[in-house]
Amino acid sequence: MWARRLRELDQTLGLVIGDDCCLVIDTGINAEAGFEYATAIREKTDLPWQVAYTHDHFDHWFGTSAFGESTVWAVADGAHYIRFGDEQRAAWAAKSRRDGREDDARRVARTKLVPPNCRVQGAIGLNLGGRTVVLRQVGLAHSDNDMVIEVPDAGVLFAGDILENGAAPSYDGAFPYEWPQAVEYLLSWKPKVVVPGHGDPADYWWARAQARDLAEMARLCGEVAQGFITEEEALAHSPFGEATMRTALERCKALTPPPPEPQAPVAAAGPSLPPPVVVYDVLEYDIDMRQ
Ligand SMILES: [Zn+2]
Repeated sequence: MWARRLRELDQTLGLVIGDDCCLVIDTGINAEAGFEYATAIREKTDLPWQVAYTHDHFDHWFGTSAFGESTVWAVADGAHYIRFGDEQRAAWAAKSRRDGREDDARRVARTKLVPPNCRVQGAIGLNLGGRTVVLRQVGLAHSDNDMVIEVPDAGVLFAGDILENGAAPSYDGAFPYEWPQAVEYLLSWKPKVVVPGHGDPADYWWARAQARDLAEMARLCGEVAQGFITEEEALAHSPFGEATMRTALERCKALTPPPPEPQAPVAAAGPSLPPPVVVYDVLEYDIDMRQ
């Protein structure tokens, strides 16, 4: 089992080698990064490979063209990957150009998108020969299509971007309320080593601490939504800094359905009422009590 650390985006890619086959976990930011990764893998093993995408963010799968025809596992389907990949390729190329990194812009714009061809719904066990790994759908968390790779016999969890080491987790397109619960569940088997999508691999207790911070983010978002605290107070108490909190708050607003349109009052259509009781003024009757 290997983790490949990249300077670009402080990214971490994964590799699990079995007796018959190896599993490549994410392929990098562009074709060049993918090619370098594929070359590095070939120095370790000449076994056939399969690829797993931890999610659809471009930096995790734009390097796949270097791996040629292969089985590619993911939670979201191929059509989604092509559509979203197109958008991200254009957006990232434009951003690189704005930042004055023309070479990077050209590299990303040249990316050949390789959509997944095998879907993971729930979980599947993948036998690599002498070692079975579990590809598990996360549910709503860092994205709506996160997948983790568990290596139970070694106690290793490849977590993708649901955990990040050395940088704040990214809430762009995330689900702030559901995310911590998903992480709690994934940590319930107590993996010894957790490999994040960005930053160094770390131990279970590091992951636990980050899960607690994710839960604190959800709590602060919920309290802002209910009016118990102000946005400024949430920003000041954010475990991941102001910018991350701001993104999370915006995301919560975007995910909350707008209040229903006020309806015109509808005339009460109850059962017809009995006629009003007529009350006579007793003084109208001139009753002579003396009689
Ligand atoms: Zn991501």
